[in-house]
Amino acid sequence: MKPSFHHNLVNGPFEDPLLYVRLFWQRRAILFDIGDISALEHRSILKVSDVFVTHAHIDHFIGFDALLRAHLGNERPLRVFGPSNMTDCIEGKLKGYAWNVIEQYPLKLEVFGIGEDTMSHASFYASEAFKRIDRGEKPLSDGVILEDEFFKVRAVSLRHDIQCLGYTLEEDYHINIDKAALTERGLPVGRWLAELKGLIREGAPDDTELAVLDKTFPLRDLKGLAMITEGQKISYIMDAEPNDENTEKIVNLVKGSNTLYCEAYFMEADRDRARERHHLTARLAGRIAREGGVDNLVVTHFSPKYKGSESSPEQEAMEEFKGGQ
Ligand SMILES: [Zn+2]
Ligand SMILES: [Zn+2]
Repeated sequence: MKPSFHHNLVNGPFEDPLLYVRLFWQRRAILFDIGDISALEHRSILKVSDVFVTHAHIDHFIGFDALLRAHLGNERPLRVFGPSNMTDCIEGKLKGYAWNVIEQYPLKLEVFGIGEDTMSHASFYASEAFKRIDRGEKPLSDGVILEDEFFKVRAVSLRHDIQCLGYTLEEDYHINIDKAALTERGLPVGRWLAELKGLIREGAPDDTELAVLDKTFPLRDLKGLAMITEGQKISYIMDAEPNDENTEKIVNLVKGSNTLYCEAYFMEADRDRARERHHLTARLAGRIAREGGVDNLVVTHFSPKYKGSESSPEQEAMEEFKGGQ
């Protein structure tokens, strides 16, 4: 199956955690956490439309300034989601700079602070020198914080001494092209297939015309090439205390994910330290992935103490995920 979300961790497991997800059918990307983004190319940064911050610890949030700078000339609004204090955090960052010559810049920042059952919204516009405009609160249903045209993002509040959010990104459904049918009809592979998928997603009328090489076809003649299947699900869990309540909440959220990205800051042998520092252990990350029935587990965000050591958090997490006793 050709995936709709291309996702990868931008940095290594001992560097700032940051997940970049490109939406294949749009010229757009989303970010989970925004630690050091210097490894991202400028054009990749410009594609970002939404950022989902787990919590405002500096290693998960320091890249916001670089993102903001790159986006000042961007017409598309930039949405930032985060814990309930996110608006204060962004306001604090914005107040750290002078903004007297940016009235002509188009950037509109929309900031969302997620509580247990509600979400607050505030705007900061370059044209108004990033003055805070509070827009009130709305109730959340089933943890859904963003309902886009083709996908949903859900959040759950976890404890990491402070509030830390776990996220999941779910595609509503997935469109595959039936390659055999394509060959049978003598049609070539090409850019037009992305257009076909786009038209189906938009619910375009059947008589919409689509060019394939030098011919045009009405959409109704091409629809049969598309197969609708269950959408992709990607989950992103960072810093969380290793307690039962967090574990249960995470397992429920990540259930059936194609890929779970999860922190594994400490190894089981250091679980006292993990409790003190409010982090999951690698073994617990493996157990969560197994109990959640996820297909792939990717662990990251390791304590520097394991650099160059014989046993790695990754090994421990994978053993528990695959073996599990
Ligand atoms: Zn962290
Ligand atoms: Zn943290």
